[in-house]
Amino acid sequence: RAKSQGRNKYQFYNSGITTQTTELFILENSLYYALEKEEFSVYYQPQVNITTGKITKMEALLRWEHSGLGAISPTKFIPLAEETGQIIPIGEWVLRTACIQTKYWQKALAIPSLSVAVNLSARQFQQPNLVDMVQQILIETELAPECLELEITEGIAMQNMNLTKDILNDLHRMGVSISIDDFGTGYCSLAYLKNFPIHTLKIDKSFVRDLATNTHDAAITTAIIALAHGLNMNVVAEGVETEEQRRLLQILDCKFMQGFLFSSAISAEDATKLLRKYKRRKVNNQPFLVA
Ligand code: C2E
Ligand code: MG
Ligand code: MG
Ligand code: MG
Repeated sequence: RAKSQGRNKYQFYNSGITTQTTELFILENSLYYALEKEEFSVYYQPQVNITTGKITKMEALLRWEHSGLGAISPTKFIPLAEETGQIIPIGEWVLRTACIQTKYWQKALAIPSLSVAVNLSARQFQQPNLVDMVQQILIETELAPECLELEITEGIAMQNMNLTKDILNDLHRMGVSISIDDFGTGYCSLAYLKNFPIHTLKIDKSFVRDLATNTHDAAITTAIIALAHGLNMNVVAEGVETEEQRRLLQILDCKFMQGFLFSSAISAEDATKLLRKYKRRKVNNQPFLVA
């Protein structure tokens, strides 16, 4: 039985390669038309200030509903879009969409301080007009630069130190905030934290997951929080799923959290409902908890 199972497995594995290659090929092609076919949407995940119970920020997360294949994970198609360069128009569309949406929430729900975080890819950072593009969208959408945060990864920070520094300084002068996403998982030199205008470190969810049971993860998380505070930066824990993780992070003095415990990434429509609900709670002085 084991033998036949093994053989089936082997055959499946073989055809798996072909399927995978074909799928990648299809995805790559479809990516070129996805924007005009309006297959993308921006979802939003709240970031909560745990000491006040308020939603302070929404992270914009791209979603792709392929006409034939259904929902494709960003972890699959973003790297592909980076390779083909399609991330340039797609990334610009995400930024514009997120800024329009946030401006709408600020006005319609009377939450003028609500901010939005948008992920930037390495490829976008190599575009000479990135700063102009951001500025143009802020003017167009009338969103205050202080309400926009751009998330970059350590890889971006390291790819060309001088160029990155210039770009980040320009964005900082404009009033836009910068955060380092997935902090602790990439190649980093701590020197860039000192030399670059960075406002926030986001602790990667891989450190948060086993926080309660893995002493190494607890040590790393503790160190990142201390580092952020020592450098006068905010720190956000990603991937907070359980009450215990929330409790431990709060003891460690991590003020901002994001994760399924509060809400997953949801459509703009659902996020509007969530923000409305949260506003009602705020009136009652109740903290934001599980949505
Ligand atoms: P990220 O920026 O680190 O985003 C956080 C990811 O963790 C999101 O996955 C989110 O849905 C997921 N997440 C949130 N809370 C939890 C939790 O409690 N538990 C677990 N297990 N996961 C949680 P998503 O939406 O699949 O995005 C994956 C990655 O794709 C993002 O990681 C980001 O690097 C990239 N991405 C997404 N949208 C964009 C975009 O518009 N532009 C660029 N350049 N990259 C994007
Ligand atoms: Mg992010
Ligand atoms: Mg990321
Ligand atoms: Mg992350």
